[in-house]
Amino acid sequence: MDASVCVLAAQTSLLGVDLDVWKAVGWLGNAIFFSRFFIQWWATEKKQAVVVPNAFWWLSLGGSLCLLVYGIHTHDSIFIFAYAFTWIPYIRNLMISSRVKNALVICGQCQHAHSATAKFCPECGVKIPR
Ligand SMILES: [Zn+2]
Repeated sequence: MDASVCVLAAQTSLLGVDLDVWKAVGWLGNAIFFSRFFIQWWATEKKQAVVVPNAFWWLSLGGSLCLLVYGIHTHDSIFIFAYAFTWIPYIRNLMISSRVKNALVICGQCQHAHSATAKFCPECGVKIPR
């Protein structure tokens, strides 16, 4: 048995719960996936408006990928089906967010092009209406 197989097959127990590399992947996926709720909540509280930051989608993508890998390893059809397609809206939302962030808008005051997400025109300093 080569070294990489030994690491993957290594199993230990913590407080009577069996742990191995694959369970670590599954728990890591759970932790990443669960943490996204705190990120979204924090962003919403900060802006006092419902906000879904890009970090939410990145954590969704990372967590669901770990859980999909775990599901594939354990041959668990429920896990596999639950996470096989969730990456589609996550990536789509990141693409749309990137497009909006990179879009340019013309300032009504000075006609300077600025980011669509800017709060003030970088050229004349006028507040950009929403
Ligand atoms: Zn301007």
